[in-house]
Amino acid sequence: MEKREKLYEGKAKIIYTTDSDNLVIQYFKDDTTAFDGAKKEVLEDKGVINCSISTIIFEYLEKHGIKTHFVERLSPREMLVKKCEIIPVEVVVRNVAAGSFSRRYGVKEGTPLKEPLVEYFYKNDELHDPMVCPNHVYMFGWATREELGFMTKTALEVSELLKKFFDEIDIQLVDFKLEFGRHNGEILLADEITPDACRLWDKSSGEVLDKDRFRKDMGKVVESYKEVYRRIVERYEKVEE
Ligand code: ADP
Ligand code: UDP
Repeated sequence: MEKREKLYEGKAKIIYTTDSDNLVIQYFKDDTTAFDGAKKEVLEDKGVINCSISTIIFEYLEKHGIKTHFVERLSPREMLVKKCEIIPVEVVVRNVAAGSFSRRYGVKEGTPLKEPLVEYFYKNDELHDPMVCPNHVYMFGWATREELGFMTKTALEVSELLKKFFDEIDIQLVDFKLEFGRHNGEILLADEITPDACRLWDKSSGEVLDKDRFRKDMGKVVESYKEVYRRIVERYEKVEE
């Protein structure tokens, strides 16, 4: 597989073209941003840890029937993925109140939700990723009813799988964000699944093990991501070997 030119550089990753029209390389940077890029730092090793975590999770989801863009890990920071036309709708699934949900609806962080809640946000930094409802998605033509239905169903399936995945390593999956893309007539789960895009709390101590440590200046950001990775490897890699 030959790496060619930079196709897109985002806040946390770079996408490179390859000699195949169907495949791109996702390169995980150490750059860490919050509040639509207003807060920015380079956190050494974060990219490697996120590439490692995302690899294991995509493999796990594929094994459980979820179609993803993942093809293979190429290097510590690089993942070969199927090239997608990304649907500009961030699908968030929540199991416990936190973040913008708590702020918007005045619900105390940590309050369990009666059932998993799916929310949609328009992926647009300039507009600060506004929350949207399905009618916006259809009216603006970001996705069809059928596509959004599939994304929602898949997001709930991913939620169940990830809840179990993290539960096994004493981590509570509070919420997470997914992105989907079109590839050869299919909708695939794309982007990343990492502590940058999930809220993960230690089940016994409640310790925050995700990007909120960065957002809230709590320190030990990469150390916490490494702890998540350590538990994942201990539980999942050993069994599979
Ligand atoms: P942002 O664009 O929000 O700053 P990143 O730094 O994570 O985000 O950049 C990665 C970009 O690559 C994102 O915009 C994401 O939607 C896009 N992307 C993720 N997976 C794929 C894929 N399989 N094909 C094409 N683009 C992808
Ligand atoms: N999230 C993300 N990218 C975004 C917005 C949110 O990965 O652009 C994730 C975030 O890490 C959390 C979940 O989606 O796990 C819900 O985020 P929320 O809406 O509470 O946003 P925030 O508190 O960051 O404003």
